[in-house]
Parts: sequence; structure tokens; C-alpha cells
Amino acid sequence: MKKHNKAVRRALLISLSVSLISLSIKLAAFFTTHSVAALSDAAESVVHVFAVAFVVYGYYLSLRPADEKHPFGYERIEFLSVGAEGSIIIAAGFTILYQTVMSMISGAEIQNMETGIGMLAAAAGINAILGTYVLRVGRREKSMIAVSNGKHTLTDVWTSVGVVTVLVLIHFTGWVFMDIVVSFAVAIYIMWEAYKLLRYSLRGIMDVRDPEADKALRNILQKEKEKGELFVDWHHLRHRTSGNTTWVQLHLVFPDGMSLKESHEKATVVERMMIDALDSDAVINIHLEPHESHESAHKILEGANKRTSLKDYI
Ligand SMILES: [Zn+2]
Ligand SMILES: [Zn+2]
Ligand SMILES: [Zn+2]
Repeated sequence: MKKHNKAVRRALLISLSVSLISLSIKLAAFFTTHSVAALSDAAESVVHVFAVAFVVYGYYLSLRPADEKHPFGYERIEFLSVGAEGSIIIAAGFTILYQTVMSMISGAEIQNMETGIGMLAAAAGINAILGTYVLRVGRREKSMIAVSNGKHTLTDVWTSVGVVTVLVLIHFTGWVFMDIVVSFAVAIYIMWEAYKLLRYSLRGIMDVRDPEADKALRNILQKEKEKGELFVDWHHLRHRTSGNTTWVQLHLVFPDGMSLKESHEKATVVERMMIDALDSDAVINIHLEPHESHESAHKILEGANKRTSLKDYI
């Protein structure tokens, strides 16, 4: 069983409870003020509750150990969770833009301003503390699920701050057009944050090489190749990281005369070095090869694949 990360679990559960409280405050603020900006804020909050629920579920799922049906474990759910957070923030951005354009056309009218300002400021304050806390726990515990949830909560703070600014400015200047300007600015900002989360999610789904892990692994292999005590050469290094596990595969080349026992022992030493060099956990799969008869042994694989030649994989 995976180590249950208490800090991350607590942060996510607090996040879920607070999102429910924050939703009720925002709904109340809208019904009091009838401001467009306040409505888009509340609409985002509804989706936010679902997003956090999904994130909490994804977190528990990602902790499950590998099983017969899921031999690579459940950690890739993280990319979906982060992607869902990103998509929801993007959608919120569009909702704000849409509402803003609609109010430009129809003209906005705002009521009970003081009460609305107080409620939204309270919601923003609570979310600012929550978002900072969840983001910090996520960064410390290297949990991208928590990081994305923290960021999501903080983008909500900016939405509320935007609305409060609007209401205060209108209160003092009477310039109702302000609602529209600030709403646009907030929409653009939160969509930028969403873009970054979506990029993370897509890179994960596409197994884009993790540059830090790559550097660490190549350093070991290069150094040991130069020393020449463990193996003659290496190639076909491939790795991908999901959650806290990096899956690695590579070929190691040994002198033809070396026994399987000895080469396996040396390969296992390399395996240990690579695991130690990574921040994440790792599962390493090494294909052992003899130096001189390597090419001829691999002849049998030529043309074996129906569509893509093995040579097309770097
Ligand atoms: Zn090879
Ligand atoms: Zn072995
Ligand atoms: Zn081979």
C-alpha cells in the first residue's frame, strides 16, 4: 500500500468543505446585489465544488497500489484531475466574458452594494488563506493534484477581488462601466493560469520527457560508461513520470564473454544508482545485451512490427 500523505489529504478535504461555504456566500452576494460580476463569480463556485470533489476522488484513486487490471498503478489519474481543474477555470473565464458582454449590451444595475462587498471580501479572504495553504502543501509534498487545486482556489480569489474592486469603484465614482473592464481583466488572468494547468496535463498524457529526471539518469549512465567498470555501453533510454513514479527502460551492453549472473549483478547496481538519482520512486527495466553479437542477434526483429519499425523509436 502506498504511503498515505496525511498533509495532502487534510488540505484537500479542508478545500472541499471551504468550497461549499464559499459557494453559499457568493450566491447570497449575487441575490443581494444582482451584479453581473457577482453572478459569474457564483457560477464559477458551483463548478468549483464539483471540481474539488473530483480532485479529492482522484487523489484517493491515485494512492491505490497497482493491481491485475492496472499493472502501472493509478497515478496517471493526476493528469486528468489537473486537466479537469484547468478546463473548469477556462470555462469560468469564458462565462465571465460572456456575462460581461451581455451586461455591456443590456446595461448593468447594482443593488445593496455594501452588503455585497462585505460578503465577497469575506469569501475572498477565506479562499486566499485556503489557496495559499493548499498550494504550499502541494509544492512541499510534490503533489500536483494539490498544487492545481491551490491554484484554482487562488484564481477564485482574484475573481472575487475583481468584483469587490468593481463594486467599491462604482460606489465612489458611479462609473458602472468599471464592472466590464475589471471582469475582462479577471477573465484573461484566470484563463492564463488555466492554460498552464492544461499544459501540464497534456504533457503528462503525452509522456513528454521530464527534463530533470532525464538529466539525472543520463548523468549516471554517462559517468559509469566512462569509468567502464559496470558496462560497455547503453542506449534506448526511455522514461515517463506519472505522479510519484518514474518508469524507466534502457539497454545495457556487456562484453560477450560475461556470464548472465555477473552482468545481471552489474545491471542491478546500475538500477540502484538510477533509483537513488531520482526524486520520485522508480521502476526500472533493463535489457541486457552482449557487445559483439548484439546486431546479429537483433536481426530476427527486422520487419517484425507491422506498422512502425523498431528503428523509428529513439
Ligand atoms: Zn539494444
Ligand atoms: Zn533482475
Ligand atoms: Zn537487444
